[in-house]
Amino acid sequence: MQSPARAPINAPINWPAALMLAFTSLPIVTVLPWYLWAHHVSAAAWIFSALLLASNGMSITAGYHRLWGHRAYAAHPALKWLYAIFGAMAVQNSILIWATAHRVHHRHVDDVDHDPYSAKRGFWFSHIGWMLRDYPSSRPDFARVPDLLEDKVVMAQHRHYLWFVLGTNFGIPISLGFLFNDIWGFVLIAGFLRLVVSHHFTFFINSLAHAWGRQPFTGLNTARDNDFLALFTWGEGYHNYHHLFQWDYRNGVRWWQFDPTKWLIASCAWLGLARDLKRVPDFKIQRARVARQFERAREALASSRPHSRLLTLQTQLENEWTQFSETVAHWTQLQSEKLSDAKLQMQDKWEHSELRQRLQVLAIERALRVQRRRVQSLRRSLMAECVPV
Ligand SMILES: [Zn+2]
Ligand SMILES: [Zn+2]
Repeated sequence: MQSPARAPINAPINWPAALMLAFTSLPIVTVLPWYLWAHHVSAAAWIFSALLLASNGMSITAGYHRLWGHRAYAAHPALKWLYAIFGAMAVQNSILIWATAHRVHHRHVDDVDHDPYSAKRGFWFSHIGWMLRDYPSSRPDFARVPDLLEDKVVMAQHRHYLWFVLGTNFGIPISLGFLFNDIWGFVLIAGFLRLVVSHHFTFFINSLAHAWGRQPFTGLNTARDNDFLALFTWGEGYHNYHHLFQWDYRNGVRWWQFDPTKWLIASCAWLGLARDLKRVPDFKIQRARVARQFERAREALASSRPHSRLLTLQTQLENEWTQFSETVAHWTQLQSEKLSDAKLQMQDKWEHSELRQRLQVLAIERALRVQRRRVQSLRRSLMAECVPV
């Protein structure tokens, strides 16, 4: 069994990261407030800062995370280069190191010894503490990421990472400052403030997105879905979904959920810059949501003393479970039929059979959605009837 949160104080300080975080944060609490009070900052400085913030943030979420971390789609080299340049500007390490660590995070999520930013080691650790010391859990094992080692853009950025960082963080704000005749405004707002805000927006995904929100898909780890957090993290606030279906190019899976990263990837696909976008079939999403409702209902039952009303609800729950198991079995059977029907592809029968199967899958997905709502209200009734043991 894993030990609870531990305070690893023996690891040596990671000076480059610690100094970089201190150097970029200090002007925000010292020089910037004074400058804003004493000087006028041009509108251009604010507008370009926002644009740079978005391009840095989404180079991390669409590029570092969903493309290289999870292979959720394939990208044209031009798009990869944009991600590599503006991602380096976010100063969160090279793609190679970032994506390697992130894959470990998914493989060992919450493990206090192996997850590089385990939420079980506390909020501070998962937010920023993990970067301040050279913990063994952060040491990358590149032998496990051969696909990244073969990616020319990843390796070029990794080899020249420092130049990418310095060139973008000093070059872009200073050049724009010259252009708009507001050098200090650009250096402070588009340089320092943009970088610090960009840092903490991303860090929230490791800290808040593992602590605050709901768990509609899985209770097996600390990841949470949080609509409010999605606003600041370019759509990565739907982290509970993401930890269950990490290869999906979407995190906010419903069309209305605020996930600008998925809209960016879909737009790039439309422009021919991205392809092979991976989507989890709706059936699997609905199955996970219904199974989660059952899990929570059973937890409520286990925490209560039995009484007659509760036993009635329990019987209803068991009936729902039987129906759920039958639906899942029906879907599994359809999948195996689909496989054997693939052999009939050359025959006329095939098209008709595929249409029939597609309609059946749609009906199953609809039935699961309806059942989820039923089980959800059953769970609420159960919780209302609970008498603590
Ligand atoms: Zn996570
Ligand atoms: Zn991820």
